[in-house]
Amino acid sequence: MYSMNLDPAALVLSALCLVYILTTSRREQYVPPKGLKAQLLSQHYIFMVLLIINILSTAASVGSVHLMENPHEGTDVLLYFLLEVYFLLHTTLTMLFVLYVMNVNGTAIGRKRRFYCFFILPYAVGILAIITNPLTRLIFYVDEGMLYQRGILMPALYCLASIYVLTGLFFFIRYQRAIPRADRVAICSVVVLSVVGVVIQAIRPDILTELFAESLTILGFMVMLEDRTGVTDQTTQVFNRRAFLDASRRYMETEVPFSILLVKLMELDRIIRLFDSRDVDSLLVDVARWLETVTDRENIFRFGQEDFALTFVGRRQGEAEEAARHTLRRFAEPWMAEEAEVLLEATVSVIRVPEDVDSLSMLQDLLLWGYQDTPPGSLLIGHEELTALKRKLAVYDALRRALDKRTLQVWYQPIWSSESNTIVSAEALSRLFDEQLGFIPPDEFIPVAERTGMIHELGAFAFQEVCRVLSAYDLRGKGIRYLEVNLSLYQLLREGVLEKLEQYRAAYGVEASQINLEITESVSSYDTPGVQELLQQMRASGYTFSLDDYGTGYSNMTRLIEGNYTNVKIDKSLLWEAEKNPSNARLLRNMIRIIRGLDMNVVQEGVETKEQLDRVVKAGSNLVQGYYFSRPLREADFIAFLDSWDPLTLMDEPAEDES
Ligand code: C2E
Ligand code: MG
Ligand code: MG
Repeated sequence: MYSMNLDPAALVLSALCLVYILTTSRREQYVPPKGLKAQLLSQHYIFMVLLIINILSTAASVGSVHLMENPHEGTDVLLYFLLEVYFLLHTTLTMLFVLYVMNVNGTAIGRKRRFYCFFILPYAVGILAIITNPLTRLIFYVDEGMLYQRGILMPALYCLASIYVLTGLFFFIRYQRAIPRADRVAICSVVVLSVVGVVIQAIRPDILTELFAESLTILGFMVMLEDRTGVTDQTTQVFNRRAFLDASRRYMETEVPFSILLVKLMELDRIIRLFDSRDVDSLLVDVARWLETVTDRENIFRFGQEDFALTFVGRRQGEAEEAARHTLRRFAEPWMAEEAEVLLEATVSVIRVPEDVDSLSMLQDLLLWGYQDTPPGSLLIGHEELTALKRKLAVYDALRRALDKRTLQVWYQPIWSSESNTIVSAEALSRLFDEQLGFIPPDEFIPVAERTGMIHELGAFAFQEVCRVLSAYDLRGKGIRYLEVNLSLYQLLREGVLEKLEQYRAAYGVEASQINLEITESVSSYDTPGVQELLQQMRASGYTFSLDDYGTGYSNMTRLIEGNYTNVKIDKSLLWEAEKNPSNARLLRNMIRIIRGLDMNVVQEGVETKEQLDRVVKAGSNLVQGYYFSRPLREADFIAFLDSWDPLTLMDEPAEDES
């Protein structure tokens, strides 16, 4: 009767799949989500249902074929029943197939209820036709010889299946970027296999290939898409970083809004030092298990050593924020490690996509190092802080672009000598103009550069620019004795910095005495072994130094005396404070006097008015820098400024705005 029957093989194959998936460790890893909606959106859950339905429908098919081939063993009622079951399950299978693929690429997520109503409609029609078939005999019937025959509406059932396949295909192509290429290839190849099986059987009803092809497809899904070991964090059994990025990409590509509740454990290394690694692991497991009380495991990811992310798909920002507060309350309580109570510090925040972050790379950057500066203690990152973090990331990108394209600029702010009434030097100041962000002040991008290590590149760039300018113009002839370059302490901490500077200088044929390096000292740097020796070596090479921003932060007298600085630059804030009351004024005067007494030059920064100039010159400041003389100028403007400098035309008003 059937020239080829692959149904029994299909049954064995899918049964093996089920055994495999239930017996491997993956079973422990999978905790089915709670609630129908969550289950409909769980790829793995749908897969399991798909697998079971496939087994049942194959079994029904095998049974009915057996009855047809051995009519004496059963009744036509039994055969009819088995065929009914087969058609019901098999129609369900087609619909689930498509739902599964739509879950893999994320297009099933975040759809409106209306979508699902439409989606279920052809299925409902099909099911209705099958249920009423005993009366209508439109789909199939059993003839007198106890043989199954196709009814006139059978082609309609195939059409119905095609609607699903086409829907799946549409979403698959429309959102193909939502899933990695390898997954796309996997889905394509196994689905094609199914279609071939179905087509063969449609054309040649005596060859039963459909179910076998479908079982092979399911096997393919299992091997290629359902292996969760690669996407599971082995310690905590929640999803790992890769899964998190895959999921985020999927949501972003399919334009599904979602909120990420980020739980960043701070100072985990402190805990690691206190306990052995097994205890730390069990602590992390405790945290993961607790997070499962907040949301389903399917939505929990551990994407870094100390970072967990919980996703709330759809517009569920309120829910995510409530969960954040709840989580923070939990972290106020101790956890147990080796029978000891430990407090874990966590930074908790909610990131909304696409409102807060609109690209995968931005999300990654934010998660990677955006939170490094947050203060100790458990805290909730609010919207304002998140905005500040994002700004930092944008500044980072802008600086990266500027360094890559070499569009960073160096401007020069003249420094005036009260002794000669001429411009004797200038400070080189980096300027960043970004196409998107506009002018970004150094106070913003220098800390970002220091934080991310770009300061080395930036410092090298500024230093080379200064060398270039020194070699391009006869600045000595214009009265300039040296140019001042800011040197970050981070630059001093990197090995080989002096050699690098020497190379650049040599390349432009500039003397070390033409360059003065400005450094701002901090307590930590002063105590860092090697820094003082390095400064000594640099002095020996001919560089001179300015102590920048004196009077703020860490400056102290001993440092001043031991430091061997040529210039001390008094911070502008001190000058501005001095104008407010007499005791501050006295402090400034005495400070200038002491520094001058130690045979160092005083450079007063931030002089904007004639009164300020008079005040500091009277107090003994021999060098002055400030808007009163000039704002920082572009290279060409700076040269023009020097050429046109007329000591008699000291202005009363500050110079024009630089940007
Ligand atoms: P700084 O080294 O203390 O530079 C002096 C700052 O005071 C400059 O700010 C300058 O524009 C500003 N200034 C000068 N005169 C006046 C004045 O009369 N009134 C006011 N309100 N401000 C005045 P800028 O250029 O914004 O730079 C800020 C800081 O960024 C610098 O402070 C320096 O620490 C850092 N920086 C700038 N360029 C570089 C660089 O190439 N490398 C490094 N490591 N740091 C840099
Ligand atoms: Mg400076
Ligand atoms: Mg300064």
